[in-house]
Amino acid sequence: MGLVPQAEERTLEEVKAIIEDSDQIVFFGGAGVSTASGIPDFRSKNGLYNQKSDRPYPPEYYFSHEFSIDDPDGFADFTRECYQSYQVEPSGCHQALVDLEQRGKLQAIVTQNIDGLHQRAGSHNIYEVHGNMRDFYCPHCGHRVAREDFLAGRGRYPCPKCGHNVRANVVLYGETLDQGVLYGALRAIQDCRTLIVGGSSLVVYPAAGLIDYYRGKELILINYDPTPQDRRANYALHGDISKIMPALVAGSERG
Ligand code: NAD
Repeated sequence: MGLVPQAEERTLEEVKAIIEDSDQIVFFGGAGVSTASGIPDFRSKNGLYNQKSDRPYPPEYYFSHEFSIDDPDGFADFTRECYQSYQVEPSGCHQALVDLEQRGKLQAIVTQNIDGLHQRAGSHNIYEVHGNMRDFYCPHCGHRVAREDFLAGRGRYPCPKCGHNVRANVVLYGETLDQGVLYGALRAIQDCRTLIVGGSSLVVYPAAGLIDYYRGKELILINYDPTPQDRRANYALHGDISKIMPALVAGSERG
């Protein structure tokens, strides 16, 4: 089977040509960028919403501010579990974005992911709008804690300075996004010529609303499932982004 449905093959060629010509590309992605690395997303058919689980609550609850308050020990252990499950290899999409950056074509990556795989792959200009799992800190006094120390613990990790619970630098459901990161992401999207959006259901706000700031004519969408923005995209490709992105980038090896 081809990379995309037959009806989209011409689109694939057109998008390759756009990438070849553009040196002001921004990529905006979500959990689908990391599924080929083995990290499940939320909403696709193999996503956490569709998997059998022993956990009594829906996946979003475990990433919520509410859970961090209801069960601080469970929340800290869940953070450790997630961190371990993110120690995987970057996908073909992550690698393709590194290539684009090295060729001076990619201005920035805006990601909703917290898994740190863009950094691990070697990308540099990254706006992590939902934060990351690399940095640990006390939300009360701001004291930073070494990741290894937090990971070695069990249950809640009291801040050595003030005793409040240390946490990862992740934006939980029910919390506001970091305004500096959000503004940087917004500017990058506003100023780019070509916007590639991929691996996101585009239903988690306010992050999904960032693409409303794009003013160019080349909105390219790559996703397995249809999204609410498909009609607005100039080009929509439906297939595996971990294979499509390398194929698109291989078409732009001009130098
Ligand atoms: P989502 O689960 O709502 O949507 C993922 C989308 O990606 C789906 O529409 C699916 O069709 C598509 N997809 C999955 N694998 C794909 C592939 N290989 N190729 C092409 N498309 C693919 O995820 P979201 O829109 O990012 O929103 C969920 C929220 O949860 C976000 O904040 C996200 O960052 C967070 N989350 C993060 C991780 C992570 O850091 N890896 C994992 C799960 C959820």
